[in-house]
Amino acid sequence: MTNKHPPSIIAIDGPAASGKSTLGLKLAKALDYLFFDTGVMYRAVTWIALDHDIDVHDEAKVTALAEATPIDVAPASKSDGRVCDVLVAGKDITWETRLPIVDANVSVVSAHPGVRAALSKQQRRIGQRGKVVMVGRDIGTVILPEADLKIYLDATAAERAKRRFNEMIARGANVNYEDVLAKVLERDRIDSTRHVAPLKTAADAVVINSNDLDAEQVFEKVFALCK
Ligand code: C5P
Repeated sequence: MTNKHPPSIIAIDGPAASGKSTLGLKLAKALDYLFFDTGVMYRAVTWIALDHDIDVHDEAKVTALAEATPIDVAPASKSDGRVCDVLVAGKDITWETRLPIVDANVSVVSAHPGVRAALSKQQRRIGQRGKVVMVGRDIGTVILPEADLKIYLDATAAERAKRRFNEMIARGANVNYEDVLAKVLERDRIDSTRHVAPLKTAADAVVINSNDLDAEQVFEKVFALCK
């Protein structure tokens, strides 16, 4: 990690529901940088596979899909709670990528080395242009190890599940906290034990535990590191 000020390439990694996207979006707005949430690409491939009745465990088929599908991530075109638009061949699939069925299958899809190779190439190309806040699981370790600032945002599984549960309830979903917690733990398990680019802290990352911090306090901490 270099000590460029302000940092041009900012990598934010961490487990599911740790607040990475909220932080990344605020930071990108404050710095007038591009915000790029790489999770949406894995979500898009997962949704398309499910929509085409492709078995998500079939690595060859899912990889072919990832290689052939042009996924566009653009600034939010509507104020309906989205952080960005996800477009596939011109079709807006932003909300499809947030469905519980995608949550339940995305870690299987993202563990396929072929899928990672296809998507990583696009992520690196965009990140290397600079003036970017890129969010994911392997940005500081694999995609942009040269990032000027690396943040690893963490919180306990119970706290992350509580936040996810509250978000779902606010959206009118009928969910149970224990189920949400079980799903968060399962996604953590698959993401951190896969062979290629597992979720882990980069040696030179600044680790922030957000258990006792709200979104604004996390932002202030990280923004201070940019000045
Ligand atoms: O961040 P989000 O929860 O939207 O990511 C969805 C899933 O995509 C993660 O659980 C993980 O399996 C995968 N992912 C990944 N590498 C990234 C970003 C996301 O494997 N850089």
